[in-house]
Amino acid sequence: MRTKLIAGNWKMHGNKSFIESLMNGMTGQLNAAMKSDVLVCPPTIYIPLVKNLIGDKAIAVGGQDLSEQEQGAYTGEISGDMLKDNGCQYVIVGHSERRSLYGETDILVAHKTGKAIECGLTPILCVGETLEQREKGTTMQVVEQQLDAVIDTLGIDAFANIVVAYEPVWAIGTGVTASPDQAQEVHSAIRAHLRNKNAQVAESIKILYGGSMKAANAEELLAQPDIDGGLIGGASLKADEFIAICNIAG
Ligand code: PEP
Repeated sequence: MRTKLIAGNWKMHGNKSFIESLMNGMTGQLNAAMKSDVLVCPPTIYIPLVKNLIGDKAIAVGGQDLSEQEQGAYTGEISGDMLKDNGCQYVIVGHSERRSLYGETDILVAHKTGKAIECGLTPILCVGETLEQREKGTTMQVVEQQLDAVIDTLGIDAFANIVVAYEPVWAIGTGVTASPDQAQEVHSAIRAHLRNKNAQVAESIKILYGGSMKAANAEELLAQPDIDGGLIGGASLKADEFIAICNIAG
């Protein structure tokens, strides 16, 4: 039985007062009996503030990206060790915005994934197709290529320490969600792809869905057998909405 993970990706949103009220809203409503894991990924500079606001509540913190380098003259970069040193447990890698806006290649994403693991962080490896790729019928080809770059670089056993997030690019921030059937089809194909290399890893790995998930559609998505949680953008910036999704996850 895989524990569900509900992860919020705040992207480049917020300021101190917004974050204080968001976190107070979340910690105030968090159900202590909840079995699912809850994670927030704030802009890096606010990670210490968020850690402070969480106190002893069961909310993990993660980064939104990390450098593939360990340390050195890399102006503007944040290392995995720095995230870890500030209390992070997770880091998002290969988000479609990083791939499309910052030119991150499959191989760079694989190196970042490896660096995260080396630093003791759990990478949330984002994969997913564009609308054009879906319409051409190449969804699984694209997703498998993104996964294979990591498998070829780090080996399949590395996936014992990875969370995968299937995020169809056409569903991110658009309000258009993949239907539960569309999402389940890809999630199950991802698990089958991993099962071909290592059955145990495939059974235990968490595969999150991301793309306009909100309280109104979370129940059906999270009920799918291969959907093990959500990576949530817009709806994670509203405490009520995010906690409602956590409660649905159970
Ligand atoms: C995301 O950015 O990972 C995401 C899923 O965003 P949204 O929920 O806003 O579509």
